[in-house]
Amino acid sequence: MENSFNFSNENRNQTRRTGVLIIGAGIAGLAAAKTLLDNDYHDFIILEAQSKPGGRIQSLHLTESTILEIGAQWIHGTKNPLYTLGKKYHLISEKRSQEGAGIYLRNDRYQYDPKLIMEVDQEVMRILTDCEQFYRSSIPYPKSVGEYLQDRFEEYLSRCENDNEEIQKLKRQIFNWHVRFQVIDNSCQSLNDLSAKLWGSYSLSIEQDHINVCNGYESIIKVLCNMLPKNVLQLGTCVTAIKWNSNTVFIDCKNGQKYEADFVICTIPLGYLKRYHQKLFQPQLPKIMCDAIDKIGFWAINKIFLKFEQKWWGNVQGFQLTWNDFDVPKRQWYHDISGFDELPRCDLNILIGWIGGKGAKIIEDIPEEEVGICCVKLLKKFTGLNVPNPERVIRSKWLSNPYIYGAYCYHSVDCDEAQVSAETLSRPILNENNVAVMTFAGEACHKTNFSTTHGAYESGHNQANIALQKVLNNKNCSTGLTADNIL
Ligand SMILES: Cc1cc2nc3c(=O)[nH]c(=O)nc-3n(C[C@H](O)[C@H](O)[C@H](O)COP(=O)(O)OP(=O)(O)OC[C@H]3O[C@@H](n4cnc5c(N)ncnc54)[C@H](O)[C@@H]3O)c2cc1C
Repeated sequence: MENSFNFSNENRNQTRRTGVLIIGAGIAGLAAAKTLLDNDYHDFIILEAQSKPGGRIQSLHLTESTILEIGAQWIHGTKNPLYTLGKKYHLISEKRSQEGAGIYLRNDRYQYDPKLIMEVDQEVMRILTDCEQFYRSSIPYPKSVGEYLQDRFEEYLSRCENDNEEIQKLKRQIFNWHVRFQVIDNSCQSLNDLSAKLWGSYSLSIEQDHINVCNGYESIIKVLCNMLPKNVLQLGTCVTAIKWNSNTVFIDCKNGQKYEADFVICTIPLGYLKRYHQKLFQPQLPKIMCDAIDKIGFWAINKIFLKFEQKWWGNVQGFQLTWNDFDVPKRQWYHDISGFDELPRCDLNILIGWIGGKGAKIIEDIPEEEVGICCVKLLKKFTGLNVPNPERVIRSKWLSNPYIYGAYCYHSVDCDEAQVSAETLSRPILNENNVAVMTFAGEACHKTNFSTTHGAYESGHNQANIALQKVLNNKNCSTGLTADNIL
C-alpha cells in the first residue's frame, strides 16, 4: 500500500528507549498519542505494522468527490468525540445517511408495502430494546439475542389476530431481513452468538445519526497524524514480542528493531490477539484476560462496491433483499447480503452491498469480477430491470487482513458464561510489584461503545491517562491484573 502520510522508518537496528510505547496507529493509538501530547508528554513512539496508519479506517479515493469507505462508514451522532474533532477541522458532511433505506424487494420481484415494513421494523426495535433490561436486572434471561428475538416475534405474530396467512408470511420475510441486518450490524455469524444478558451493555446514549466525513473518514486520521512530532510514528513495524520485568517493557519487532519502554499501550485488534496472544506476551497474560480475548466475539462484515456507467436505479436510495424461499437447503453466500444502497456524496454511479455472517468470509476468496457478476444476477432477479454489468467491483477483505482478522467485536454468549467483557480487557496489566506496565486500548476495550470508532477513540484517550499516571507519578494501579494468576 502506498504511504501517503510521509512518515519514514528510521533507526531500524538500534534499541530505542521511550517512556510510552503505543502499538497500532488506528484511531485508538492516535487518540492515545493526542492525549499524551495534550498533557505535554512527548516521550513516546507509535509502532504500526501496516504501511499506513488508520487501521480499520480506510478511505479509497476513486475521484476527488468519490470516496469509498472500505472500513468504518459513519460517525454515530453529534455527541461523539469524533464529531467534535471533525467539526473543528471542517470535515463533517451535511449529508446524513440512513440504513435499510429504499425499497424492500423479494426474489420474485414482489415489492413490500412500506407500512408493513415500518410495522415490523418497530416491533423488532421494541423487542431489541426490551432485551436491554436483562443487563440491568437480575431476572432470569434467555441465552442469546437470536433466541429472544425469535420467540418474542412469534408471540407478536400470534397477537396479530387480524392478519391473514399471507400477511404473516410477509412479516416473517421482513423479519428475516432484520435478522441478516443485525448479523451485519453486530459483526457476528449468528444472532444466537450474541449474549442476551450483555446486549444492554452497549450504550445507545449517543444518537444513532449516520454522519458522513467529507474527503473520507481517513481525513480524521490525517488530522491526528499531523499533530505527531517527526519520527514518532514508525510504519511497517510489526511487534512480535512484548516482555516485561519489574522495571521495563521490552518490545521486539519483525524487522529486527527493539524498543524499551516504561509503559505500553497496546491497541492490537482483538482478531490478531485471539491468534497470537499466547506467543506475543511474556509472561503470559492473566487467565481472566486470556478468557476475555478468547471469548469476546469477533467476526467480519464486508462491503461490495459496484460502479456502473449509468445510474440505472433512478431515484431509489437502495434495494433491501428478502427471500420467499429462505430456508432452502443450499444456502449460498449471497443469501447473507442485506441489500444494496446508493453511495452518497458521489459523482459516480455506485451501489454498496453489505454482507455478513458466513458469506462475509466466503466472498473474500472469490475473485471480485465473479462477485460482481453474481450481484448483477441478484439485482436483475429482484428488480426485473436490465441491470448492466458494473465497470468496476471492489470488495473489502477484513477477515484476511493479517493485522486485523475481522471487523469489530461483540459480547458473546461465552462472555456471559465466563463473566468477561470489554471492561475486563481495559484493565491494566501489573508487574510482580503491582506496578502497571501495559494496558490494552481499542474498540474491544470500551465498556459501553465497543465496536465503534468513538469507542476506540475514547478507549485510547482513557488508557493514555493511565499511562500518564504511571510515567509521570509512578503511581501503582490497584484495579489492574497481575500475571501471577496465570493458569
Ligand atoms: C467494514 C467496517 C465498517 C465499520 N463501520 C463503522 C461505522 O460506520 N462506525 C463506527 O463507529 N465504526 C465502524 N467500524 C468499526 C471501526 O472501524 C473500528 O471500531 C475502529 O476503527 C477500531 O479502531 P482501533 O484503533 O481500535 O483498531 P484498528 O483500527 O484496527 O487499529 C489497530 C492497529 O494495530 C495495528 N497492528 C495490529 N497488529 C500489530 C502488530 N503486531 N504490531 C504493530 N501494529 C499492529 C493494525 O495494523 C492497526 O492499524 C467498522 C469497521 C469495519 C471493518
